[in-house]
Amino acid sequence: MATTINITKRTDTKINNVDFNNLIFGTVFTDHMFYCDYKDGQWQQPQITPYQAMSFDPAARVFHYGQAVFEGMKAYKDEEGKIFLFRPDQNFKRINKSSARLAMPEFPEDFFFEGLTELLKLDSAWIKPGVGNSLYLRPFVIATEPAISASPAKEYRFMIILSPAKAYYAGKVRVLFAEKFSRAANGGVGFAKAAGNYAAQFYPTSLAQKKGYQQVIWTDANSHENLEEAGTMNVFFRINDTLITAPTSDRILDGVTRKSLIQLCDDLNINCEVRNITVSEIKTAAKNGSLKEIFGAGTAAVISPVEAFEHAEELFELPEIENSYGSLLKDSMLKIQHNLAEDKHGWRYEVR
Ligand SMILES: *Cc1c(COP(=O)(O)O)cnc(C)c1O
Repeated sequence: MATTINITKRTDTKINNVDFNNLIFGTVFTDHMFYCDYKDGQWQQPQITPYQAMSFDPAARVFHYGQAVFEGMKAYKDEEGKIFLFRPDQNFKRINKSSARLAMPEFPEDFFFEGLTELLKLDSAWIKPGVGNSLYLRPFVIATEPAISASPAKEYRFMIILSPAKAYYAGKVRVLFAEKFSRAANGGVGFAKAAGNYAAQFYPTSLAQKKGYQQVIWTDANSHENLEEAGTMNVFFRINDTLITAPTSDRILDGVTRKSLIQLCDDLNINCEVRNITVSEIKTAAKNGSLKEIFGAGTAAVISPVEAFEHAEELFELPEIENSYGSLLKDSMLKIQHNLAEDKHGWRYEVR
């Protein structure tokens, strides 16, 4: 089934007012947006319109019961002007997995890819070539039905908005290992990109920030002994020459960056183990000098190196390291994403 998106274009563009060298992540949006409503048991005619505010009934269920899921992806442009996405099939599958967990309807694959394609073609001037430049894509779904009884909505809106992102030279982060708060529980929604997972992290993260840590590394809710993920990123630990990352579960989000890095380790002959990692293992390794690196992995920054962590009032500083696996892996990922390296695994998706 070929969709025909109903397209209303802007007659002008906002792009000339944007300073692409000083972008603050997630604050500037392109000229157009995509949306599609679900009602009467089906997805309706998809729309592309000028980017604009929308109005919703105050009783829309998303405001009361938090039925909201999202995705985060990036589009890249090479020097010839070709536009690429990175493994968008993974984001498509994941948003529907997230939706299913929140009792929300799945979005059709053809609508998803046509929506992305048409929107990116219309706003392609917003994707700047050059490694590090990208356009961040935010697909999301919210429950719009105006009814505040506590049950799943019968009406939804799927949307895609686009935000240009500058080369993200993330500084190193200091992190706190969680001892009291939890992000996710067994049987819960930790594996889903549910908006509420983020809301629930803001308060414990703000306490960590007051102590001088930018992020929390979440531990399992039962024992607080297994290191799980950073809440917007999956985490990798390097002990001697081995990288370790936790297995995904219903508490851990199955990151596209994480799974791509595991494959790249194989390609680059870096030993990578997927297994449980305990706080005590990492503290012991930090004390005896075998802990070489910790980094977060996610679409926004690809890799965020960690310079220090705290647990139970003990602070550990990581050593400066040459030829870090983090920077090697980041470099390889960026080259594949920007069409500067061979794409052995068919991860690039050309938008045309
Ligand atoms: C989005 C997200 C990640 C990273 O996933 P990517 O697909 O690599 O961007 C990790 N953890 C959580 C909780 C997330 O929401």
